[in-house]
Amino acid sequence: MTGQFYRYQGKAWDTHFLPRLSKLQVSQLPNKEEALVILPIGATEQHGPHLPTFTDTLINEGMLTAAFDQLPDDCNIWTLAAIPYGKSNEHYGQPGTITLSAQTLMSIVLDIADSLTQSGFKKLLLFNTHGGNSALLNMMGREIRIATGMNVFRMDGGGLGIGAGIIDEREQKFGLHGGDLETSIVLAIKENWVDMNVAPNEIPNFPAGYTEKGSTNFAWIMNDISESGVAGNATLATMEKGKELIALSGEKIAIHLLEMKKFNLNSVKSGNKAK
Ligand SMILES: [Zn+2]
Repeated sequence: MTGQFYRYQGKAWDTHFLPRLSKLQVSQLPNKEEALVILPIGATEQHGPHLPTFTDTLINEGMLTAAFDQLPDDCNIWTLAAIPYGKSNEHYGQPGTITLSAQTLMSIVLDIADSLTQSGFKKLLLFNTHGGNSALLNMMGREIRIATGMNVFRMDGGGLGIGAGIIDEREQKFGLHGGDLETSIVLAIKENWVDMNVAPNEIPNFPAGYTEKGSTNFAWIMNDISESGVAGNATLATMEKGKELIALSGEKIAIHLLEMKKFNLNSVKSGNKAK
């Protein structure tokens, strides 16, 4: 995996992209009730002057492309097309930002889950790469479980801990949006979509104890915390770091996917004997 990403090329898309199958092929898939289906969820929102608004969706597809490279052909794990819009109202009104309301996004993921059950699928992963979607999708996992009976998993690209040892510590803590990590990854996936000439270095001045990743927090919109639309130091970004980050995310995601594939919800309750 070089990091460079060609949409719809590679193993993820040739052998594990569920919508490439025909109606007949989907109906004849063996062990459908044990298949793990991934619903990727990204965003289309401003990421500063240097990155495409498609950044989060692009990173999602890039990470999954790298992950499927690590998986056996017969893993019975499938991906859907990414939802390219998310709940991005923290960037509302900023050029290029397209946001769904919380209500709309909730309806979309629930409708997709319900449709999957109509085709016989029972295991769903909501794989998200936009921080602003996380809380809502965590909540929706349980809502989908109740409404459809599916076994639902959650995973965030931002929660994989891939920055350690590659991205400096200050940036790992305060680089929330469009900084070194995201910029490096997009450089690796789609270099010509990045303009490093205008990459900002703007680290918000969060008071001690109040960081986005801490235990206490305050509600903000991007206009409250950043002039450039970036929170982090994008000038540190390099394609080399991005290639490392993408490769590492692929390895970590592949491990999690195989665990989810094997996971048996019925064995969690201590009174039930695992089969
Ligand atoms: Zn982002």
